Amino acid sequence: MPLLVMKFGGTSVANLERIENAAKKVQKEVERGYDVIVIVSAMSGETNKLVGYVEGTSKLYDAREYDAVVASGENVTAGLMALRLQEMGVPARSWQGWQVPINTTSAHGSARFMSIPRDNLDAKFAEGFKVAVVAGFQGVSAEGRVTTLGRGGSDTTAVAFAAAFDAERCDIYTDVDGVYTTDPRVSDKARKMDKIAFEEMLELASLGAKVLQTRSVELAMRYNVRLRVLSSFEDTDEQSGTLVCGEEEIMESKVVSGIAFSREEAKITLFTIEDRPGVASAIFGPLADAGVNVDMIVQNISEKDYDEAHPGAVTDMTFSCPINQVERAKKALEDAQAAGKIKYDDLIIDTDVAKVSVVGIGMRSHTGVAAKMFSSLSAENVNIKVISTSEIKISVLIDRKYMELAVQALHDCFDLDKA
Ligand code: ADP
Ligand code: ASP
Ligand code: MG
Repeated sequence: MPLLVMKFGGTSVANLERIENAAKKVQKEVERGYDVIVIVSAMSGETNKLVGYVEGTSKLYDAREYDAVVASGENVTAGLMALRLQEMGVPARSWQGWQVPINTTSAHGSARFMSIPRDNLDAKFAEGFKVAVVAGFQGVSAEGRVTTLGRGGSDTTAVAFAAAFDAERCDIYTDVDGVYTTDPRVSDKARKMDKIAFEEMLELASLGAKVLQTRSVELAMRYNVRLRVLSSFEDTDEQSGTLVCGEEEIMESKVVSGIAFSREEAKITLFTIEDRPGVASAIFGPLADAGVNVDMIVQNISEKDYDEAHPGAVTDMTFSCPINQVERAKKALEDAQAAGKIKYDDLIIDTDVAKVSVVGIGMRSHTGVAAKMFSSLSAENVNIKVISTSEIKISVLIDRKYMELAVQALHDCFDLDKA
């Protein structure tokens, strides 16, 4: 029997009526002859509420208990979805992560898949069940404890099941009708794309586009899963939405295909550090040990280049990291200073920054994208604080209050509203 994976995000299962609406979409695919694995998120707002309960109980919480609480939102929707399908005459059974079992690492709060054995679900399909409703976002560790995969993790659950069960396609149903050139909530000129390459989607997701969890795109790319994003609120058919696929399936590609942004950034500068071999390692080693995800880095040049004759040269170092890791970063640096491992005069933290990035595989073969991006920002009087580039993206750190303006200006400047 051909098999589909259908994932419904939080807004698509926000209440009983929406669960029924989603169940009807599942029923349609069953009628077309598919066995279906449905992956559900918690009802919208539910996970945030559960996280709030944990944080309200314990500041430095035990991550195992965080997972025990936070994973529960998905259990509710999985059971309700199975019940709704049964009411509609569709043989369906719900599964929590441990029942499948979805085996993950023990990294609570950000666990990764180890294996998804097919036996239990296959046996149920063989009994005549048409739908397995699986709670997204969760798994079980080797120690037998519930784990979660990081926020937005149900997307990754969906892709992992599509890979494990050789699904014909993995359909991600959400509150937008596909992947847009930028978040449609920020630019009303954002345009839906019919197709986007894995590499581009991976960059957009990792640079802040929340429409797919980054890890889900990584997995889809690795296992060549046909991944589609589409609306749960509209009538959809096989052509709907946006297909995330290999580059070779995309006929023509623009130089820049999308713009991503992330509000939750912070910038930290260490003033007057020694300019000598080993300093970067002495700074970023402790940050890595403290679990800080350092993103962009700039080191200023010294007045004098380091050499044996100028051992006293000094410089400044700036880096960015997620805003919720600032305290951890500050402590790691202060501890390193106190232990005599690094020396700086001042540590300045700026939490009013955002990152805006332009992404496109066409950048590999085109020059001038950075110049065009910077001139567009300068025309809007937006000051750039940090820049970083890779083969297919350019990111800038700017004042957060200009983020929307910058996204809109860049969208215009690269003509993204035009196909
Ligand atoms: P779900 O609950 O279904 O997982 P999410 O809220 O996680 O939904 O993701 C969908 C949201 O992603 C959209 O409502 C949209 O605001 C946001 N988004 C950000 N960037 C993009 C983009 N480039 N294209 C489409 N949606 C985007
Ligand atoms: N419910 C989880 C979250 O809000 C996982 C998901 O919806 O993908 O992050
Ligand atoms: Mg999501």
